Amino acid sequence: MGKLLIVGSMAFDAIETPFGKTGKILGGAATFIGLAATQFKVRSAIVSVVGEDFPEAYMDILKDRDIDLSGVEVVKGGKTFFWQGKYHNDLNSRDTLVTELNTLADFNPIVPDGFADADVVMLGNLHPNIQLSVINQMEERPKLIILDTMNFWMNHTWDELMDVIAKIDVITINDEEARQMTKEYSLVKAAAKIQEMGPKYVVIKKGEHGALLFHENNIFFAPALPLEEVFDPTGAGDTFAGGFAGYLTQAGNISFESMKNAIIHGSNLASFCVERFGTERMVELKKHEVEARLMQFKELTQFNIELT
Ligand code: AMP
Repeated sequence: MGKLLIVGSMAFDAIETPFGKTGKILGGAATFIGLAATQFKVRSAIVSVVGEDFPEAYMDILKDRDIDLSGVEVVKGGKTFFWQGKYHNDLNSRDTLVTELNTLADFNPIVPDGFADADVVMLGNLHPNIQLSVINQMEERPKLIILDTMNFWMNHTWDELMDVIAKIDVITINDEEARQMTKEYSLVKAAAKIQEMGPKYVVIKKGEHGALLFHENNIFFAPALPLEEVFDPTGAGDTFAGGFAGYLTQAGNISFESMKNAIIHGSNLASFCVERFGTERMVELKKHEVEARLMQFKELTQFNIELT
């Protein structure tokens, strides 16, 4: 079975959407990535850090799904990373109200025993030096290194981000960030510029408008499923990344063709994530639901045109 190493935040989130408000609930990029990856036949491990205030019950949600947490450091007397966000009425944009790094501020990631030879490494959105440190701890070059990042790191740690980006295979980024990173409005031009920075594959996420995959001169597009219920988009990007990475770890075959399927799996899982607050929907997700929606994806995008 393929091994997937995930690095990212484990967090308390407090979320406000037009439909309601939560207190502190389970969140974090690594949490969403890990939960999405459990939909595939892979062995996965998380490298992260939390404080003593992080409930055992939250750990159990991940442990019970066979995610190896030996790389999750629990800092004595420390407080867990906290993020609070409020979505606008269109649910496509949000304001970050609070970011308390807490234990994440001095995080020194340690790759756990048995995962320094992981096939795929998924570097969740974190300080680029942390992402780089994990790459440097790998015994040999993984088959695939995927990196997620955001505008915050572009604004504050550009040089470090460029160092790590030069070492990876796939970057997942949203459209606004791709434009910011390259100063190109055209996403085709932006993706070409990003490929020059290092990653051979560029995935541009466009929220409810789907995702694009670029590799050399090839482009693939996956729509997002038009949903009746969008409740809370938090974690959709990470869930997408977890589905993408989980599928490729299971498939073992890294190519543009397999990445097309990976994008569909990522989009499919993200469509569930947004239906409830936080991780609620992902923890109860059943295989038959995932499969039924994959078929909906197929129907949504297939057509026969005959040229006369
Ligand atoms: P997404 O909605 O996919 O962009 O990711 C949301 C998750 O990212 C939330 O669960 C947050 O806990 C986490 N998060 C937000 N800001 C940061 C940050 N600066 N570093 C690490 N994780 C973060």
